[in-house]
Amino acid sequence: MARLDREALEKYEEAGLIASKVRDRMERIVREGMKIIEICEEAEDAIRRLGGKPAFPCNVSINEVAAHYTSPPGDERVIPERSVVKIDVGVQIDGYIADTAVTVCFNPEYEEMVQTSQIALEAAIRLLRPGLLISELGSRVQNAIESRGFKPVSNLTGHQIGRYLIHAGKSLPNVSHVSLRKIREGEVYAIEPFVTTRRAEGRVKEGREAHIFRLMKTRGFKRKESRELLRYIRNNFRTLPFAKRWLERSGLMYESAFGDLLGSRCIMAYPVFVEASGEWVVQSEHTVYIDKEGPVVLT
Ligand code: MN
Ligand code: MN
Repeated sequence: MARLDREALEKYEEAGLIASKVRDRMERIVREGMKIIEICEEAEDAIRRLGGKPAFPCNVSINEVAAHYTSPPGDERVIPERSVVKIDVGVQIDGYIADTAVTVCFNPEYEEMVQTSQIALEAAIRLLRPGLLISELGSRVQNAIESRGFKPVSNLTGHQIGRYLIHAGKSLPNVSHVSLRKIREGEVYAIEPFVTTRRAEGRVKEGREAHIFRLMKTRGFKRKESRELLRYIRNNFRTLPFAKRWLERSGLMYESAFGDLLGSRCIMAYPVFVEASGEWVVQSEHTVYIDKEGPVVLT
């Protein structure tokens, strides 16, 4: 792939700036006992105030939940005491996406684990350059994590980013693996080591809940409500993930139409990811542009 054109890169940079501001703001304001829905909505509102759009619902994933929790409408849950809280925000400008996450630690026992995810992230970024073998990156991340006495989550990966696509093309495993794929100039990646305890299984499985959705295909429906909801989703979110909370702004009666769309597989649900042995997980994430000279951190 050729270098990104000027305009695309500027949009990535703007999305990255907004995402980093919102991530830092959320890191400052999150407290034990705070309602999770307030965190999600504040993050998403802050993105809009700054001139971006959320690229996906703000994820607030706690303790053994590694990723993909966002508040459903009317969520009463709060941040538990002595928890670890992953806050993951995505911003898009004209489909150009920045994806970044931080772990807020209310439990001193997990501070070293959080530091380890930051160190692993920094080590990975330092290595990034055109021509780098993706397997080398995985080995480096695994080593950074294991040398500090922790374990990487083997089935959560960094990923290439494309226009209106959060997971585009290549994946970046946080463990050593066999692959001949390389990082190329002009590509954009989200780098995100997930770290857990040494005694953990070190992989995630799907949990029972799902509060994040995305459009898979369109088709005709007999019911007008279903047609209108499908059109609303397509026009507002395209192929990007969305939350049920966001449909409340549409003014549509979406509840039964939503069932129609799910049942016909026009939309799919992303279940939460939970560490398979119930151990806690932390995460750090930046979005990086691969310049000829090396990595440019956008977030
Ligand atoms: Mn993310
Ligand atoms: Mn990501």
